[in-house]
Amino acid sequence: MTKVLIAGGGVGGLALAQALRKAGVPVEVFERDAEADDWLLGYRIHVNRHGGQALRRCLPEPLWEAFVATAGRPGAGLTFHTEQLTELLHVEEELMTGGSPDGHHAVSRIALRRLLLTDLNVHFGRTFERYSHNDDGTVTAHFTDGSTAVGDVLIGADGANSTVRGQLLPDAKRVDTAVHGVAGRLPLTDETRSWLPDRVKNGLSIVLPTDDEFFFSAVFDGRRRTADALAAGTHLVDEEMLDNVSDYLLWAFATRHSPADGVAPLIRDWHPTLQRMVAETDPATVHTMRFKTSAPVTPWPTTRVTLLGDAIHNMTPVMGLGANTALRDAALLAHQLTAVHHGAPLLDALAEYERRMLAYGFEAVTTSRDRAYEFTSPNPIAKRAMRAWLRLCAAIPPMKRAAFGDKWTDDTAGLPPVTAPSR
Ligand SMILES: Cc1cc2nc3c(=O)[nH]c(=O)nc-3n(C[C@H](O)[C@H](O)[C@H](O)COP(=O)(O)OP(=O)(O)OC[C@H]3O[C@@H](n4cnc5c(N)ncnc54)[C@H](O)[C@@H]3O)c2cc1C
Repeated sequence: MTKVLIAGGGVGGLALAQALRKAGVPVEVFERDAEADDWLLGYRIHVNRHGGQALRRCLPEPLWEAFVATAGRPGAGLTFHTEQLTELLHVEEELMTGGSPDGHHAVSRIALRRLLLTDLNVHFGRTFERYSHNDDGTVTAHFTDGSTAVGDVLIGADGANSTVRGQLLPDAKRVDTAVHGVAGRLPLTDETRSWLPDRVKNGLSIVLPTDDEFFFSAVFDGRRRTADALAAGTHLVDEEMLDNVSDYLLWAFATRHSPADGVAPLIRDWHPTLQRMVAETDPATVHTMRFKTSAPVTPWPTTRVTLLGDAIHNMTPVMGLGANTALRDAALLAHQLTAVHHGAPLLDALAEYERRMLAYGFEAVTTSRDRAYEFTSPNPIAKRAMRAWLRLCAAIPPMKRAAFGDKWTDDTAGLPPVTAPSR
């Protein structure tokens, strides 16, 4: 028997806990927040094919069905525009997901968290402080309230400012990218839908001006699907979940210079529709952030303590890969820990997890950081070249497929299948 302790009950930690519970592996989650819903800003998460496939592996079937039933499905793909809303390139949904039913769900964080918490043993209000290794090979987690817990493995799933990482890898750092972000939510109502362009109100959109700015928007329209699921009596979908999902368009603006006076003065010469999207956004939903990213980490000697999600590979929000990568970690790590539960050597299994996770995790960190820099490049020639390249992709379908086609790979490929030993 292998007992797993997880510090942090966010997207990755809870998905891992669900997967371990499903596999019959004893698991306890320790979450700093006192309440189940003290969670983030309520922005939606865009689950891509990697994240969707991983989540499907982690969840028991009824939870996956409830997730699919409540998530919005942006159907109109991704469109690149100039700041005058001239279309540069449209990438079809089908091309990005490879037609997989696991890809592209736009889910409310609160609804996702509620689903992920179902039937789990989560200790709220327990802030992880440090760990110690015991002579019998077990690990003790120490909490700020003086309490402790003992397990065979400790997983640091405690987010971007991870305390577990601070002890395990004191040299691993997050660095400032010097890119500023501002995000807001425009409600999707009959009125706003009447003036939003089709591509914008039905899918993902990126606006690339020639200066050091860029603008992104994504639709979250899960309310009707959630209402239908509720009306159909779908297991686990309740009234409270419906309260948490209104339809809206998330927009995000990023720039290399400080948007101290807000976004409006910076987009005065943009298309009036883009200006209106910002002007009609409730200021209470607008948040400013400075993008940070994990610095590269060199592999370390594997111990009974490991890391998952933002705790090891924190990335900028550009490309929406953070939660998806945390979900990949959860599915892969669950596979490895289940194998250990059935007799595989623990340190070998964790070492293989760390090897694979560091490879795809830091590839995502690099992609997100590089796109953040490219999209906000202060060099107008570079921005014009990018726009010309997008136009070329629009004109040459094989080029578009090569650049934007689904690149899904199975993270557990080549690993021995997990089977319980015969007794
Ligand atoms: C504006 C914005 C939009 C985003 N959009 C997307 C998107 O569309 N798609 C996508 O894939 N990603 C997106 N991301 C990134 C995504 O939110 C994160 O990558 C993801 O939440 C990471 O999951 P995690 O489980 O590693 O950490 P988190 O979800 O941050 O969870 C960490 C948990 O650990 C707890 N914790 C922290 N310290 C302690 C402690 N000492 N003891 C106990 N518990 C502790 C926290 O309370 C939290 O519950 C976005 C991020 C931002 C900021």
